[in-house]
This record gives sequence, C-alpha cells and structure tokens, in this order.
Amino acid sequence: MNKTIALPYPEQAADSSLGKTAGLTLIGFGLLGLLVAAFGSGVIDPVLTGLGGITALTIGGLIYIWQRRTELSEAHQNNGAWTESATSRGAIAWVVGIVLTGFYILLYWFPDSLQGLTRAMEPLSQWLRNRPADQWFLYGTFYTLAVLVMGVHALLKYRNNRYHIIRTLSVMFFQLGFAFLLPALLLYLNQPEFYFSYFWPLKYDYLFPGTVSYLVQNGQALGVFMIFWGAVLSFLATPVLTYFYGKRWYCSWVCGCGGLAETAGDPYRHLSDKRRVAWRWEVAIIYPILGFIIITTLLLWINSWSEGRLLGELSGGFSSTYGFFIGAIFSGVIGVGFYPIMGNRVWCRFGCPMAAYLGLLQKHFSRFRITTNGGQCISCGNCSTYCEMGIDVRGYAQQGQPIIRASCVGCGICAHVCPRGVLKLENGPREGRYAASPLIKREDLNLLS
Ligand code: SF4
Ligand code: SF4
Repeated sequence: MNKTIALPYPEQAADSSLGKTAGLTLIGFGLLGLLVAAFGSGVIDPVLTGLGGITALTIGGLIYIWQRRTELSEAHQNNGAWTESATSRGAIAWVVGIVLTGFYILLYWFPDSLQGLTRAMEPLSQWLRNRPADQWFLYGTFYTLAVLVMGVHALLKYRNNRYHIIRTLSVMFFQLGFAFLLPALLLYLNQPEFYFSYFWPLKYDYLFPGTVSYLVQNGQALGVFMIFWGAVLSFLATPVLTYFYGKRWYCSWVCGCGGLAETAGDPYRHLSDKRRVAWRWEVAIIYPILGFIIITTLLLWINSWSEGRLLGELSGGFSSTYGFFIGAIFSGVIGVGFYPIMGNRVWCRFGCPMAAYLGLLQKHFSRFRITTNGGQCISCGNCSTYCEMGIDVRGYAQQGQPIIRASCVGCGICAHVCPRGVLKLENGPREGRYAASPLIKREDLNLLS
C-alpha cells in the first residue's frame, strides 16, 4: 500500500494564524458548553450551555475549516494525511474514536445519561416538531450538523472538481431536507415520522408488518403512500437507477450513512484496509447480512399472516437479533465510532445490506464502470490509497482493465487524485463493458525501422 503524498507544505501559513486560533478557541468553548450541558445536572441551564455550545462549535469549526482549506492549493489538500495525529491513527484519532464510540453506547443503551444534552434541544424540538426532545432528535441534530459542517470542508477540499461539488451538495441536501426537516414536519403535523431517503433493506423495518400496519393506521392515505414509496424505491427505482448509474446514485449521492462518510468521514478515507484478506472478510460478512434481513422480513410476514401460529417467537427473535447486532452495534458503534481507526466506510463495506443489494446489481446488471487508460498510469498508487472501499485501483489501471466491482460506491476520488487522468467514471452501454484499453507493449515499440 502506498503511504506517500505527505509532501512538504510550501504555501501553508503558520499554524498559529489568527483565523485558526479563533476557530480553535470557539471549538474549545463549544465543547466546554456541551460538557457543562451534559454533566452540569441543572446547575446551569442546559439550554443556554447546550445550544450555545453547538453554535460555538459550528461557527468555530467553519472558521477553522475555511482557514485550513483555503491556505492549501487544490493540489495539496491531502498533505499530512499520513503524518498528522488526527488522520494517521495517532493519539488524537484514538481520542476521537473513543469519544464517538462512547457516545453511541450511551445513545443506544444509556439514553438517560444524555438527559442534559437532550434537554438542551427542547426549544429546537418544540419549534420544529411541536413535541419534547428525545435522544434520537439529539442524535439527528448532531448528525445533520456534522454532514453540513464537514460538507463545507469537502466543498472547499474538492473545490476544483464539479462532480464532487454537486455530489457533496446532494448529500447535504438529502440529509437536511429528507432526513431531518421533513420527518420533523411530519411529526409537527401529527403524521407518522418517515424518512423518504431510506429504504428496505437499509431501513429494514419499513417493510416489516408491524411498521406497515402502524403507518396505515396512523397515517391513513399518507401512510399508504409511505409504504408504496418505500416498496417502489426498494424494488423498482433501485434496480433501474443502478442499471443506469451504478450504486453511486444512492451510496454517494442520497444515503445518510454515505453522506456522513463522504463529509465527516472524508479525512479518514485512506485508512481503509487494502489487503486481500479484507476483501475476503467483506464478501463473507456483507452478503450473509443481506440474507439475514431477507429471511427476517419473510419470517415476520409469515408469522403475521399465520397470526403467530406458525412461528411463535422465532421471527421476533430474528428481528431483535438483527436490530441489536447489525442495526445498533455494527451501523452505529463500529460503523461511525471507528472512523478514525478503520476508515470511513466500514459499515458500507462490511455491513450494509443495501450496499450488498446495490453491489450485486452494479456488478451484474449495470452500465457503470471506471475505465482506465492504462498506458498513462505511472503506478503512483494515489488512487488505491484514497479509495475508501479498499479497492486496488492501481492494479486495474496498470493492466488497463475497467473497474467493475460490487463494492465501488462511485465516489470518484480515485479519478480526482490521479495525476495522469487515467480513470473515468462511465455509464456507457453494457456491450464491451469488460474490454480493456489497449496497452502499448514493449515488443510493439519500434523506434528504428
Ligand atoms: S474505486 Fe474509485 S470511485 Fe470506487 S469507491 Fe474506490 S475511490 Fe471511490
Ligand atoms: S491510475 Fe493514476 S493514481 Fe492510480 S496509480 Fe495510475 S497514475 Fe497513479
């Protein structure tokens, strides 16, 4: 694996520039405010410290990001990725990983311990949803802010690349609009909460009989539309869109998990495991998880139709096992908590059943591929280094072969970091999809006739 690209910083200003110091100071105050809100146990109003902390953290983060990204030219944006503690599994990375993992553990299993922070969200929750805040609203707010603030980071980092600007704006839009504001508005109008940008099998319970009957009973016509929307997106729109564009239409443009990975997780993309054994684990884990959720959904429906006579507690056991191990531990605790150690797409690569489903479609029924103009490749390895899915892009490029892999999320970073313009994301006709580009072989060189 190539660990290069830690070039000197010719045009970087001193680290103590005024803007960065101001940004870091505000971040410090913001974190302090959140700590006081979380553990102040009512001595100071958590709304004041909590919302003040979030505001300071957001503004400070934006100032720091602006300073940091604009002092580097477009070509030097990855400088330091392998040398700075925060992005090379150093002490800062471990601290961030432990804090994130700890937060997820509290969120899922000890929500009472987050009461201070949850109370801080009360005015915002009342204003947006007309109901009290809970830990999931707190989580949704933090998640959306992370995508938006780090989305600005990605916009500045890839500012010379139109594909990445539009893609980043897209994930910011879907997270803010479809995964935060719209569900809140539905609750405000006393309708069932629904996330229009998540579908089965990722949002696995949307096709469970319990959720279907809840939506029909509580949402009436709108509830029926929600079920219809989910089913159409899962079984019709997903194959059609994947046929034309590959899995990138969802994983890199719409999905909230992918949105977080492409924004907050972007500084960690080079940490993905590139070894062959990692690919073997990938295949051995992700497809059984897809099978698990298909079987669970079928069992729940059989149980529902037989009114519990056929399967008893079995289908419920499948459902709660999946929810605990995959829905909570894998997607949250490991999937996000381990960003700074294992890279930003651990969940998407090893655990997400939607990625598995999309991947099968992409590999076997899609027009999407990355073509490689192998004759231009200088084997620098940038592409493989920054592939968040651990694909050996360079290996394909050296042989002039198109990259048609189930796991590729079409983020396009390999093409962005390639200094020779070797790689191109394409949706051409399926005919000739596997054809390699002609390479100039040594024996073909004939300088003297
Ligand atoms: S091969 Fe390229 S487009 Fe695909 S996931 Fe890796 S970096 Fe992204
Ligand atoms: S395809 Fe581009 S980035 Fe990858 S090894 Fe070749 S020259 Fe380097």
